[in-house]
Amino acid sequence: MSDEFCYIGGNVAENAGGGRAVKYGVTGRYVLGVEVVLPDGERIQVGGKRYKDVTGYDLLSLLVGSEGTLGIFTRIYLRLLPRPTERATVLSFFPSVDAAVDAIPRIVRDSGIVPTSVEFVDQLPLHKACEMLGETLPYQNAHAMLLLEADGRDAVVVQREAESMEEICRTSGASYVHRANDEADAERLWTIRKQVPWALRKYAQQQSLEDIALPPAALPDYIAELQMLASKYDVTIPSFGHAADGNLHATPLKRAAQTAEEWQETSGALLAEMYEHAARLGGTISGEHGIGHKRREYLPHVMSNRQIDLFRRIKDSFDPEHIMNPGKIVE
Ligand SMILES: Cc1cc2nc3c(=O)[nH]c(=O)nc-3n(C[C@H](O)[C@H](O)[C@H](O)COP(=O)(O)OP(=O)(O)OC[C@H]3O[C@@H](n4cnc5c(N)ncnc54)[C@H](O)[C@@H]3O)c2cc1C
Repeated sequence: MSDEFCYIGGNVAENAGGGRAVKYGVTGRYVLGVEVVLPDGERIQVGGKRYKDVTGYDLLSLLVGSEGTLGIFTRIYLRLLPRPTERATVLSFFPSVDAAVDAIPRIVRDSGIVPTSVEFVDQLPLHKACEMLGETLPYQNAHAMLLLEADGRDAVVVQREAESMEEICRTSGASYVHRANDEADAERLWTIRKQVPWALRKYAQQQSLEDIALPPAALPDYIAELQMLASKYDVTIPSFGHAADGNLHATPLKRAAQTAEEWQETSGALLAEMYEHAARLGGTISGEHGIGHKRREYLPHVMSNRQIDLFRRIKDSFDPEHIMNPGKIVE
């Protein structure tokens, strides 16, 4: 979703996901090798142009997603796919979050289709993005949106898949379903989704953009828990994300009346509960944004001390002086 301003080095360092991961997987799936400058200045190559490699420990997987803490990539070998020639984009508005959430497993699990994208946006971010864009689609009564896409090289198959997804939305109670008329219309629909984080940022500058990753089947439970936590902590927690992957950007917002100290206290306790609940459902605290500084203190919610200690030892063996992104992932 940040394709207009991100770079391949950052994509690989974060093992970025995004709106097409349900069908195509995340960045790491396409990285065959990297040339990496280690913290002591030595340059090594890990992997390369080969498709298969089980020569010892999988250092490539360790480097992909290492958040710039182990080395700097100066060359990246990528596996490329032929670009799909056909795509169909469908936007659906729903009168309730439950109705939208009901449609997701019916599309992803039951329909026999492998959609390219299943993006979910709930009421507040949807309305704020549409207002910001001056959107003329009938979003005013919508409580949730699904943005769906099918792609491939056979126009008939792609359009048939789009029809099936539309039908599922309607039978799940969608109040409005629209298939993009052409490429420009598809881009317009994607713009709504891509503007969501910016619209939320404009609405509430102090917020905590989260990146919970769940087993997809746990999404309804987690959304219900978020509603409970929102009333417990008296905050708004809008959500959006890559629904088919179970990757939800729940984003608690600071209330205007809260002081910075109150917000810090509330958000700390709230995030701990959000993370604990994700862990209870078999989820984790980041699906694509990473740990950085922000989530480091929360690692014990989702992994054992032994695992965190292994992280430290990996960091020490690559970067004993901790000169590369110090303090990220581990102290
Ligand atoms: C509006 C918005 C939407 C987003 N949507 C998504 C999304 O859908 N999916 C997703 O996964 N992420 C998303 N992100 C997060 C972010 O954009 C991605 O993680 C992106 O891949 C980061 O790339 P970048 O070029 O911006 O990296 P930067 O932010 O510049 O860097 C990210 C990290 O990578 C390290 N790094 C950068 N280059 C190298 C290199 N050559 N070698 C080693 N380390 C390096 C940096 O030190 C840093 O720690 C979004 C962010 C925003 C603001």
